[in-house]
Amino acid sequence: MRFVHDSLPQRIRFASGRAAEQLAAEIDDLGAQRVMVIAGEFERELAQSIAADAPVALWHHEVAPHVPVAIAERARRAAAEHDVDALVCVGGGSTTGLAKAVALTSGLPIVAVPTTYAGSEATNIWGLTDGDVKTTGVHARVLPRTIIYDAELTLTLPVELSVASGLNAVAHCVDSFWAPRADPINAAGAADGLRLLAAGLRGVVKDPSDLAGRELLLQGAYASAVAFASAGSGLHHKICHVLGGMFNLPHAETHAIVLPHVLALNGAAAPSLERRIADALSSDTATAGLAALRDDIHAPSALRDHGMPEAGIEPATEAILPQVPPKNPADIDRAGLVALLRAAWAGEDPR
Ligand code: NAD
Repeated sequence: MRFVHDSLPQRIRFASGRAAEQLAAEIDDLGAQRVMVIAGEFERELAQSIAADAPVALWHHEVAPHVPVAIAERARRAAAEHDVDALVCVGGGSTTGLAKAVALTSGLPIVAVPTTYAGSEATNIWGLTDGDVKTTGVHARVLPRTIIYDAELTLTLPVELSVASGLNAVAHCVDSFWAPRADPINAAGAADGLRLLAAGLRGVVKDPSDLAGRELLLQGAYASAVAFASAGSGLHHKICHVLGGMFNLPHAETHAIVLPHVLALNGAAAPSLERRIADALSSDTATAGLAALRDDIHAPSALRDHGMPEAGIEPATEAILPQVPPKNPADIDRAGLVALLRAAWAGEDPR
């Protein structure tokens, strides 16, 4: 066995109901005196309650999905004009993504307070969108210095969004098993993430106010993102990246829908990995385990319900083919990819 594994340096403060005091301690620790708080319109009030006693120099609420470059530029200019010395982001992956865009050019430290299960807070990956082209990259500067996980902040996340977001995290775990830098360390984290996420998702769907379930989901989201950042993008992420950019599809839902199709294909070609995923999902097979979870939580199933046109299958296939990771377990050809996309578009059962 031979591998090279990098772990990312980060502090995690996990304390439900205690985001404000954890943030105060962190700002103290950083010695920050001019903080920029980034939070979308929806998260504005939440952010204000958490950062009420912080030395805030700038409140910034212009946030949009996939971090359009114009919005990133305006946020960067505002940070420079206000002589900001630390960034605090409160919100989902779109909000964290904007803080990363500012950190990328300024080097400012980020304290991330996530309110979804996207997991961006635990990766060193940034993304920017110019028109319909999304560019991503990796840089140490964009890794938040500290994450504050407060599960009470996720209680308002509607069940449908919780399901999609939680399945986005499940996808990080599953894809990590065959991603380009997959190794035994990120596989262990991914397997643990799957167990936490499956339990958390079932708990939250049964009772959306189940704080313990929300805590499991945040722990699972963190484990999933650490595994993903370490292992890299596998076939699943390559497909979702193209689809999201090409048709402006909602991020979490796209991941939730595409995952079972990639799992069915790759699981059949990689029996030992399939076994590990099945074990983590407490099932005889990985595909059956994911299907049972998706049934229990009423997961979304068809890309056509989320804005993908049928005519998009062919151009998406052409765009994905050159990006298929060379060591993907299953051989991927044009016909196979068209069939996969058509099944995900129509919402067919991958079994
Ligand atoms: P999002 O941040 O766009 O949030 C989705 C919706 O949920 C928004 O309308 C938001 O206002 C709302 N919301 C957020 N928190 C809420 C709460 N607690 N209660 C009620 N509503 C709430 O979506 P997302 O799925 O969190 O993130 C997706 C984005 O993150 C994509 O752009 C994706 O590319 C990026 N992402 C990046 C990484 C990375 O490593 N760089 C990893 C995962 C996702």
